[in-house]
Amino acid sequence: MITDEILDKYIMTIGIECHVQLSTLTKLFSGADNDARDKSPNSVVSPIDFGLPGMLPVLNRQAVNLAIKAGKALGSEIARVSRFDRKHYFYPDLPKGYQTTQMYQPIIGAGLVNVPREDGSSFDVRIHHAHMEEDAGKLTHFGDYSLVDLNRAGTPLIEIVSEPDIHSASDAKGFATELYRLMTYAGVTNGDLYHGNMRFDVNVSVAPKGATELGLRAEVKNLNSFRSVERAADFEFRRQVERLEKGERIVQETRGWIEAKQKTISQRSKEDAQDYRYMPDADIPPIILTTEEIDEIQATLPRLPAFYRQEWKVMELDSTVVNALLSTKSQSELVQSVLETGGVSAARRTALWILMVLPRDIDQVVRATGNDLSISEESFIELAAMVDGNELSSTAAKEIFFEMQRSNSSPRVIAEEKNLLQVSDEGTIVAFVDEVLSDPASTKAIEDIKNGDDKVIGFLVGQVMKKSRGTANPKLAQKLIRERIV
Ligand code: MN
Repeated sequence: MITDEILDKYIMTIGIECHVQLSTLTKLFSGADNDARDKSPNSVVSPIDFGLPGMLPVLNRQAVNLAIKAGKALGSEIARVSRFDRKHYFYPDLPKGYQTTQMYQPIIGAGLVNVPREDGSSFDVRIHHAHMEEDAGKLTHFGDYSLVDLNRAGTPLIEIVSEPDIHSASDAKGFATELYRLMTYAGVTNGDLYHGNMRFDVNVSVAPKGATELGLRAEVKNLNSFRSVERAADFEFRRQVERLEKGERIVQETRGWIEAKQKTISQRSKEDAQDYRYMPDADIPPIILTTEEIDEIQATLPRLPAFYRQEWKVMELDSTVVNALLSTKSQSELVQSVLETGGVSAARRTALWILMVLPRDIDQVVRATGNDLSISEESFIELAAMVDGNELSSTAAKEIFFEMQRSNSSPRVIAEEKNLLQVSDEGTIVAFVDEVLSDPASTKAIEDIKNGDDKVIGFLVGQVMKKSRGTANPKLAQKLIRERIV
């Protein structure tokens, strides 16, 4: 049994490799459609992607531009000269017999990502480099035969390689999440995790605290959700500590994550590691970039999460709220434009309303992308102004917000239809106050207030709000209750 006390004697070290699918129109070296979703197998494949003899690949300039943007979002230098290499291996999903990748001179150099934690603190993860490469096809296994689908073959990817700067499973999840935010905000990828637009390989090693060398590492391949990154790291920490406690050796190996069992299993050890026989790809000229070209593309980089974190400080939101909102670019843009047009109070209210409909789990937030709120910036500003102007209680505003998601009506029209406008007319409120005070259930509260326990007045105000369905102005209600009791 591995107790927390035993785990505490060890330190886990994690490095992450992340494949990001670039949102180009066509593939990395051919004119075939880059969107393989819902396409029948082998229908978006050109002779180049099939790897037929005599075909000459032509590098997609849009993919290069997106890689430059990705590099800038990672805080990296962009190489003035980068090249493609061939990585040889034999598998039916790779008809060419090699993957075209960048081994020796990647386009994206060292960088740095600052990752926020839920508690408001943050940590840095260094980026070793990121390179461009093509994706392979996909095999589907049926009983005693397998089928090959090459729709994904030649899809442009960048592979981001981090330094081993992460030391907990929750920080691994935090880093993966921040990479997702950076890549989607930069407009580099569609970020559709369900369709494998971002896949994480997590390298985990364990050593006794204070040890000067890292332990041998296990690499968990192809995780496609933030939760599975966290769970796989946590599982590996416990598994490796258990082995070390038993005096067993950790073997350097590749492992797979079995979602249904929430565990990793060994796939292949270092002993059968392949020699990829890397060599420069003679068919593709080097990518040569000028400073002007790089600067021009950097100038088109959209606002990144750090911009919003800085701007939103005036709203004084909890860091969990900020991080949840930042998971979807369109919502961040909405909150920001409310802030710029409607001011701090309207933006703060908008942020909190949106948060009510966001799922708690970051993986679900990401999956829900596409079902963005249809509510306009103007409607949010109007709704907030009605609350700030005492025309609506915050409870009524919530009800209207939910209604706004279904209808196209303005908040004022909904408020009128649902009779939710706050009543500041004394005569109307007095009627509710009298009704509450004459209720036998209020007798004790009235006695308590007369005996000096003033807090109880909140209970009576609450009753008036309930009777008026949230429409009574609570300040006025309190004033009237006081006048009648004393
Ligand atoms: Mn790769």
